[in-house]
Amino acid sequence: MNYEKITSFIREIYGEGYIPLHRPIFAGNEKNYLSDCIDSNFVSTAGQKVNDFEATVSNFTGIRNSVAVVNGTSALHLALRLVKVVSDDEVITQALTFVATCNAINYLGANPVFVDVDKDSMGMSPVALRNFLQEFAVQKEGFIVNKISGRRIAACVPMHTFGHPCRVDEIVAICNDYSIPVIEDAAEALGSYIGDKHTGGSGYASVFSFNGNKLVTTGGGGMLVSNNAELASQAKHLTTTAKVPHPVEYIHDEIGYNYRLPNLNAALGCAQMELIHEMIDIKRKVSYEYSEYFQSQGIEFKVEREGTKSNYWLNCLILDSRAQRDEFIQYTNSHDIMTRPIWCLMSDLPMYSSCQHDSLENSTWLVDRVANLPSSVPDGMLGGKA
Ligand SMILES: *Cc1c(COP(=O)(O)O)cnc(C)c1O
Repeated sequence: MNYEKITSFIREIYGEGYIPLHRPIFAGNEKNYLSDCIDSNFVSTAGQKVNDFEATVSNFTGIRNSVAVVNGTSALHLALRLVKVVSDDEVITQALTFVATCNAINYLGANPVFVDVDKDSMGMSPVALRNFLQEFAVQKEGFIVNKISGRRIAACVPMHTFGHPCRVDEIVAICNDYSIPVIEDAAEALGSYIGDKHTGGSGYASVFSFNGNKLVTTGGGGMLVSNNAELASQAKHLTTTAKVPHPVEYIHDEIGYNYRLPNLNAALGCAQMELIHEMIDIKRKVSYEYSEYFQSQGIEFKVEREGTKSNYWLNCLILDSRAQRDEFIQYTNSHDIMTRPIWCLMSDLPMYSSCQHDSLENSTWLVDRVANLPSSVPDGMLGGKA
């Protein structure tokens, strides 16, 4: 591989100086909306911007209900609690994910178990899921139980890696056969579609993240989305300390959380959502340039799966080996270009090393080969004033 040539190609897109992996871009009404909050004194968890942001996300995704929370991890925690994951349960997820997916499972005292991903989507493999359930799931006293651990299998959490949609509808169909609710970790997939359908609408509930490195950012923030109105209203109740509406009294009817997104953060989100179509168009153009270039070099660049539309949150290469991956990452970072490997497998982290998993053959294959490329919207392209 000609690292020097690749480096100059990346600089053709992103220019001189340090190039981050994914930086936020504020080219719209962010400052205006922040000023509105400050001028109105509504800077905290009550305020019109929070409602507006929720409505905008529902409108954009076509998923009926949106509940804004402080981050994607809390949205996952909440979603899992709302499908009644409890202590000592088991939740099926992928080993190839960001650690937050597993942490949220653990916050409820439940245990993740890992199935493999597909090589093309990099998300949960329906075949691996089906095999796992056929081998280990048994009916016991009205529950689905893992016959090895004796634990109830309470939920399944597939994740859309880097914005590339996984085969979530097949996953939901399999889980329906076992009455296992699916929560989509769509943290990276705002603006990604399967056919015409936005990701996050297939399971019981889904989550998006608005962390500083995501496509759309609120500084920190997340959204629980669901087509189930009852679930969404319970979510809102729990995120606002389970306070029962009352003109003066402080009455809380269960143990809730202080998870509501502040108005200040929502203000950023409202401004960012005004430019989301443009942001995605620009990111897709960058990805197209990358793919043309790397194809001409005989290097595999990950493109969207047929029938899906990716937001290309993070672009990535599939290199030949772990050694080449490491060499590429070492070279680019020492030349002020931020590149990163994909995550370590969750089953290789000390907290999750004893969790049950299948062969993880594709997951391991991908960990050895995937390198993320700079993926921000380049300077000066958005709203004319980036
Ligand atoms: C970013 C992310 C999260 C967590 O979101 P935060 O807002 O950072 O808490 C969860 N899962 C995945 C896959 C993510 O990429």
